[in-house]
Amino acid sequence: MPKKNKLTTPDWIREGFDSEADYNKAKGINKDKKKTKSFKIKECPKCKSKDVSVVLEGSGEGTGWLCKKCGWKGEDVNERELNEDEFMKYLDEKGEKVA
Ligand SMILES: [Zn+2]
Repeated sequence: MPKKNKLTTPDWIREGFDSEADYNKAKGINKDKKKTKSFKIKECPKCKSKDVSVVLEGSGEGTGWLCKKCGWKGEDVNERELNEDEFMKYLDEKGEKVA
């Protein structure tokens, strides 16, 4: 019968800190570090509209993009990186609910 492992003592206790928070502070660990998320969105290279959608070409060989605004169709869609704020704004403009 294998012995049950004893629970490991957390580092902050073993190193004599009063709390995990103190330990993290001393070690420079910041658990609340804000992550900056970035979102990639597609944009029509012709009219800069973001109202583009993927279209599957007949053969299924490649994906193309279709701009619903100006009717542009192609593969060289513009890609833009947005930060979270910009992305929220973008969703707002699109009228989509953020899940
Ligand atoms: Zn367009």
